[in-house]
Amino acid sequence: MKCPKCGHDMAIEDLSGIEIDRCTFCEGIYMDAGELEELFQRKVEERRGILKRMLGI
Ligand SMILES: [Zn+2]
Repeated sequence: MKCPKCGHDMAIEDLSGIEIDRCTFCEGIYMDAGELEELFQRKVEERRGILKRMLGI
């Protein structure tokens, strides 16, 4: 998959079973609707941890 923003390659990252695509160039993060839905079905604490890892904080 290529980044829709800059056209560079995307790398797939696995965050507690949820796969996201992260651009290796601009660090843009993309996930499909199914993954987003999966994220919102997680417990609040778990979701917070995943989001932190996603954002690198
Ligand atoms: Zn990009």
